[in-house]
Amino acid sequence: MHGKPDIVLPKYKTVIFIHGCFWHGHEGCRYYVVPKTRTEWWLNKINTNINNDLQYGKALELRGWKVLVVWECDLKGVDKAGFLTSIIAALKNNEEKPI
Ligand SMILES: [Zn+2]
Repeated sequence: MHGKPDIVLPKYKTVIFIHGCFWHGHEGCRYYVVPKTRTEWWLNKINTNINNDLQYGKALELRGWKVLVVWECDLKGVDKAGFLTSIIAALKNNEEKPI
């Protein structure tokens, strides 16, 4: 589960991670509720995930990849294909307008 982007767009040198709000500790998200039992164990596990996410993202960025993170809650009720299309459209736009 770790370190593998959910979507890879080699053409745009972009990877997209879709993070589960609970497992990746989406701060301030209503889906991120730490269980009241074995709280420490859960926090430990979630913090390990967050750390891995950061490290893996950094490693990819160092290799010139653009790393996008999408939270599961952002995708709720959203058409995933349409969502992906709009991301690609945004990337295309960026490509045409050099910063
Ligand atoms: Zn969330």
